[in-house]
Amino acid sequence: MSLKSAAHYRNQRDRVWARDKGRCVVCGGPGTQVHHRRGRGGPDPHSMENLLLVDDECHRRIHGNPAWSYENGYMVRRHGVIPPDRVPVLINTLPVWLTPDGLSHPQKETA
Ligand SMILES: [Zn+2]
Repeated sequence: MSLKSAAHYRNQRDRVWARDKGRCVVCGGPGTQVHHRRGRGGPDPHSMENLLLVDDECHRRIHGNPAWSYENGYMVRRHGVIPPDRVPVLINTLPVWLTPDGLSHPQKETA
């Protein structure tokens, strides 16, 4: 299955919903849509590290306030050298690192 196919994206969205427990990662309210931290470009836009569950209002806030979004890890610089799995997301005031296996960790692994 292509990494850019609609079927793959549907599958990844289901995994994001499960990982983020149906909650918007920004405000904790009910999640309604999936946000791409570094956009939909590149070879693997629907990787778990690139996706966050959000609601409509927070999704608009993310795209409307890029400085705040980069600061909190809700957005990752598209042409930057640091990939999404190395940029923590602030969730409930704590930095969380996202991994390809669909898990999130409250602190960076040192291995
Ligand atoms: Zn929200």
